[in-house]
Amino acid sequence: MAEGLRPHHHCCFIYDIKRHYNHKKHCVIKKVTYKCMMCDYMTHEIYECYEPPPKPKTKALERNKRKYSNRD
Ligand SMILES: [Zn+2]
Repeated sequence: MAEGLRPHHHCCFIYDIKRHYNHKKHCVIKKVTYKCMMCDYMTHEIYECYEPPPKPKTKALERNKRKYSNRD
């Protein structure tokens, strides 16, 4: 840490957000990294968001294509 830095309340801003889907827990894990504006202090917080996994849209599109091609 820098010398002569006064003790301060860390003033953290969102430095990085990483999210990935945890298949075991069936939820989205969000790892937010906060960084202090005045020093190199960093802290992490993990959030678990219980969201349903995104449904693939490709199947519906394929079905539509078939419907149109059968008309001819
Ligand atoms: Zn700080």
